Amino acid sequence: MIPENGTCGEGMAIDPETFDSLLRAIERFVAERLVPLEDDVDRTDRVPDALVEEMKALGLFGLTIPEEFGGLGLGIEQEVRVAIALGQTSPAFRSIFGTNIGIGSQGIVFDGTDAQKRRYLPGLASGEIIGSFCLTEPDVGSDAASLKTRATRAGDGYVLNGTKRYITNAPRANVFTVMARTDPDEPGARGVSAFLVDADTPGIRLGKPERKMGQKGAHVCDVVFEDARVPADALIGGIEGQGFKTAMKVLDRGRLHMGGVCTGVAQRLIRESVAYAMGRRQFGRAISEFQLVQAMLADSETECAAAAALVLATARRRDRGERVTKEAAMCKYFASEMVGRVADRAVQIHGGAGYISDYAVERFYRDVRLFRIYEGTSEIQKLIIAREMLREAG
Ligand SMILES: Cc1cc2nc3c(=O)[nH]c(=O)nc-3n(C[C@H](O)[C@H](O)[C@H](O)COP(=O)(O)OP(=O)(O)OC[C@H]3O[C@@H](n4cnc5c(N)ncnc54)[C@H](O)[C@@H]3O)c2cc1C
Repeated sequence: MIPENGTCGEGMAIDPETFDSLLRAIERFVAERLVPLEDDVDRTDRVPDALVEEMKALGLFGLTIPEEFGGLGLGIEQEVRVAIALGQTSPAFRSIFGTNIGIGSQGIVFDGTDAQKRRYLPGLASGEIIGSFCLTEPDVGSDAASLKTRATRAGDGYVLNGTKRYITNAPRANVFTVMARTDPDEPGARGVSAFLVDADTPGIRLGKPERKMGQKGAHVCDVVFEDARVPADALIGGIEGQGFKTAMKVLDRGRLHMGGVCTGVAQRLIRESVAYAMGRRQFGRAISEFQLVQAMLADSETECAAAAALVLATARRRDRGERVTKEAAMCKYFASEMVGRVADRAVQIHGGAGYISDYAVERFYRDVRLFRIYEGTSEIQKLIIAREMLREAG
């Protein structure tokens, strides 16, 4: 899971005025439509279809897809600011279109052929097509380069065999970006190729959606390939052996987005904490007057501001075309650990109420745990940071 590339051919940012009105519209949508439904979605494990249609109409499925393919073509700083806005509500909502603007589309944006871009990107941008990303396997997680799923040359195409695990949005997906080994004699990254596999391809079977700790309403399951035959033009970029690099570029970009989401969720948790602390009275006064409670608020506010500064500064550097592999890993690592600490303090400030599901902090406490695990665990981010430090030192 260690990326080999830094920056990689992003689209241009949209003009600041258009972006500001988009951001205001997203903020209103979050506050007026999503926040009131958070509890319902957590209880029913389902995001209403009508809401998904509203997300499509707002352009949320195409935030990062270039304008020429029907997306909004946001720059990285713009994407991060949208991610912060989306973080103000349950992360499950973002997950509905999260794969389309991240791991489920960016492999095509970065490395797809023109024909692959024309075929998939407009539908991914509109939300008509749902994209998923298949890297993890039952025996292969952090050590992604050792993946076992095979793509064997057969006639003018390939036959895929293997199992992919914990695949976000797989139950709704129309197209999978699948990393599979094309060279059995090359056990590492160089033997891996990336394929675009339509979900209705014969030989694909989905597992049961997993029961998860949090982020209810967002679904993951196994995707099993049993002699699934794909044409040669399903190979991303038309070149074998590039799939691991494609996957790492995709994950590298996602780290900034994740840093933004974690920052947004922390801001929401801090608002919930301040409001509760000011309203709850013990020993004849608001608990916000107790300095030990104030210390928790101050720690959360400071760490959240530090994450925001790091994520936005790194995004601006990437928009300028700089290589930010180390900094992007720092963003994902720091922001995801930070929001874990902020959520823990939020529960503590709420006392017993923090353990009760009527309060948003209980749900967020469960939701944010995932951020330290997927798209590269904290340990893997630290390995990337250190590797880059040692590389810089020559
Ligand atoms: C809800 C959810 C959604 C997901 N969505 C997707 C998806 O859409 N597509 C996809 O491909 N995957 C997805 N994943 C998989 C996710 O990316 C992996 O779970 C994650 O990368 C960790 O892999 P693992 O679970 O196999 O853990 P392991 O790799 O087995 O790690 C277990 C522990 O060992 C540590 N560890 C491993 N190697 C090292 C090392 N070298 N040094 C130090 N510590 C190490 C890890 O940090 C971790 O703490 C999802 C997972 C979940 C839970």
